[in-house]
Amino acid sequence: MAKIKAKLKQWLAMKTEDCKTVAPLFSYDLDRKLSLIEKLRVRLHLFTCDACLNYVSNLKFMHEVFHTQEENLENEKIHTTLTPEAKERIKEKLKAQSF
Ligand SMILES: [Zn+2]
Repeated sequence: MAKIKAKLKQWLAMKTEDCKTVAPLFSYDLDRKLSLIEKLRVRLHLFTCDACLNYVSNLKFMHEVFHTQEENLENEKIHTTLTPEAKERIKEKLKAQSF
């Protein structure tokens, strides 16, 4: 069974487009809706190409990270300033070190 799948992959790899042609569609997938044909092209290529599959999963991960970060910024969940406790601690340290 695994052999048949491998053969099918090989055969499909010859039929489908190369990485350079399909790659631009990967980022579109995240930015906008692809047409049915484009989706099919991407799916077919990813089925046959492990390198691109890897690339897309990285791309999706990055996209999620950036998206979450953006949301956090909007909700002001990220504290870029120090907490009052941290400020106090730094002050104490500086006092202790001064002559
Ligand atoms: Zn590829």
